[in-house]
Amino acid sequence: MDAEEFDTIVADEAAEYLRGIEAADQGPRRGECLRCYLDRMVIAHGCDDTTRFTRRWLTWAGMPDPKAVAEWLEAAGGYCDCEVIATALPEHWPWPPAGVGTGRYAQS
Ligand SMILES: [Zn+2]
Repeated sequence: MDAEEFDTIVADEAAEYLRGIEAADQGPRRGECLRCYLDRMVIAHGCDDTTRFTRRWLTWAGMPDPKAVAEWLEAAGGYCDCEVIATALPEHWPWPPAGVGTGRYAQS
């Protein structure tokens, strides 16, 4: 192996490592429920008006038919990740965490 090959291998491994960190940052944690996961992701990354994190959790959780569950959540008003939190799965506490939340999410 020459120095150039070695550099390429090191660069590839570094890129793979960074992709792993990024994926771990956005993936559900062991035992994390959908609602807790969405709270964490919407606070950290915002809502892009899709159910990207909801769908990711449903797949991660090994739901036999994640699409059907996503459709059920959408029918219950959860047409995007923040609406899954606010409308489809509102019975969860605490929301928002201390110091987070404005407007409709603010605790009075
Ligand atoms: Zn939203």
